[in-house]
Amino acid sequence: MINIPKGTKDILPKESFKWHKVYDVTRLLARKYNLKEIATPTFEHTELFVRGVGESSDMVNKEMYTFLDKGDRSITLKPEGTAGVARSVIENSLYADALPLKLYYITSCFRYERPQAGRLREHHQFGVELYGADTAVSDIEAISIAMDFYKQFGVEPIVRLNTLGCEKCRSNYIEKLKEYYKPHLHEMCEDCRVRYEKNPLRILDCKVASCKDITKGAPRLLDCVCDECKAKFNNILSLLDSVGIKYEVDDRLVRGIDYYTNLVFEFYDTDKTLGQSALGAGGRYNNLVGDLGGKPTPVVGFGIGIERLLNYVEAKGKNIENNENVDYFVVSMVDNPYTLQVVKYLREKGYNVDFDLLERSVKAQFKYANKINAKYTITIGEDEKKSGKLSIKDMSTGQAEYKKLEEI
Ligand SMILES: [Zn+2]
Ligand SMILES: [Zn+2]
Repeated sequence: MINIPKGTKDILPKESFKWHKVYDVTRLLARKYNLKEIATPTFEHTELFVRGVGESSDMVNKEMYTFLDKGDRSITLKPEGTAGVARSVIENSLYADALPLKLYYITSCFRYERPQAGRLREHHQFGVELYGADTAVSDIEAISIAMDFYKQFGVEPIVRLNTLGCEKCRSNYIEKLKEYYKPHLHEMCEDCRVRYEKNPLRILDCKVASCKDITKGAPRLLDCVCDECKAKFNNILSLLDSVGIKYEVDDRLVRGIDYYTNLVFEFYDTDKTLGQSALGAGGRYNNLVGDLGGKPTPVVGFGIGIERLLNYVEAKGKNIENNENVDYFVVSMVDNPYTLQVVKYLREKGYNVDFDLLERSVKAQFKYANKINAKYTITIGEDEKKSGKLSIKDMSTGQAEYKKLEEI
């Protein structure tokens, strides 16, 4: 037997209705918020992620599925959705159209992670990218879309946010961080010593206990941002208040990706027993398009992992309703032509209809109708065929009535 590759998952028929709900919700949000769908390839040139996501990030350093194709080009399965969209926006000059560009996608993401951490090597993300606006209301719009997405599943996480400040205050902060960490370097993990040189902000993200301890005393970002950045951030907070979105300021939040500037945010549940990892995350990346060679354009966006969302919804005891069950199951004791005509008639009326393809006994047909949770059965015997009145049984109450086909 050939098994599924480590860290991947089938979407089995019995749970596919949950994914359809996800697609339905994204389409609903697209209409509500005037978002347009964009789809980019599963793989891109490796350089896109090295330049876009950043060489010093774990995602690029350790987790990418990278290979040489037969033309000796370095190809990478996309580890996240943002860089591919940015590439497409630049390549197709989408930002030459009316701004803002409001985009969404659902995509597979591939990361070579240790599966025991409960993380998948292929997972799916719902992502939104708002191009062209560098305003607090566009930040609020992005967070609102994410919150509405969660709400459609009956859950309401909290948003934790922070500002990384502008370039000026960030380089200021990095100076202070380096100063602080320098005497501690020998006590810190090997990764952090590399981070110290390449991207000291990333040290704040380190999960190693000794590093975490040292980080407790590190200078706080919010204390180091300039007045303008602080005012911007406070404006976002007051706008969140005005639309009733619950948030916490987390001044250790930096996100493990290089492209963020200013606002960063993550979604968590307040119930700590549900785990400490973020349910979704996003922020502002005003330098990404310019870094990739496009016309500098501000962007704010987020990504939400679908598998994590579905686990979260289940952990909160919220059911996703399965409304894909069969409306009518036709139980037949008569010749096939009449059965097929009844089935065809009902399907043309738009009902979800099924019947027995195995030509089994009536008892077996009812058993099957029960198993697939058919809402109604329609039984056709010789009498029904002659009179044209069919026996319709409500499977939840067991009550039956006779109706002409046209009356259904
Ligand atoms: Zn600043
Ligand atoms: Zn460390």
